[in-house]
Amino acid sequence: MDDCIFCKIVNKELPSHVVYEDELTLAILDIFPASEGHTLVIPKKHYLNFTDVPEQELKALAVTSQRVLKAILKSEILPQGANVLTNHGEVAGQDVMHFHWHLIPRFTSDSLGKVFNREFAQKDTQELAQIATKIKSYIN
Ligand code: 5GP
Ligand code: ZN
Repeated sequence: MDDCIFCKIVNKELPSHVVYEDELTLAILDIFPASEGHTLVIPKKHYLNFTDVPEQELKALAVTSQRVLKAILKSEILPQGANVLTNHGEVAGQDVMHFHWHLIPRFTSDSLGKVFNREFAQKDTQELAQIATKIKSYIN
């Protein structure tokens, strides 16, 4: 992908701070970090988002994410926890259209709050059953 920032980073046409790299994956520091150690884990090949990534690469990305997060948690950055997430699609806040997982270290002293910083009403069992049926019919 010619115009993709992350492809350029993978190809070393743009600089980045690499914390881990292997054959299929790359972990770099986010240039606008939400917190200290905010890391992006990306496939070296261009895929738009989570549902586009083939299973083998998805496994490699999960393993890299766990490995890097373990390092962040053990490091002298010393977070108390982390958010591990992906923004899927523009409506969900995806800005860079090359799949990536965010590893966002969290600190008791930070002011980031919960990802969904409000309360939701509990749905009744019947409605939940109907929604589950809608989804299950598309699982393959
Ligand atoms: P998204 O909003 O797509 O889920 O996340 C994109 C992330 O990429 C943002 O957190 C943003 O700060 C980060 N980002 C954007 N441009 C660059 C860049 O050129 N280098 C790095 N390292 N991160 C970037
Ligand atoms: Zn790309």
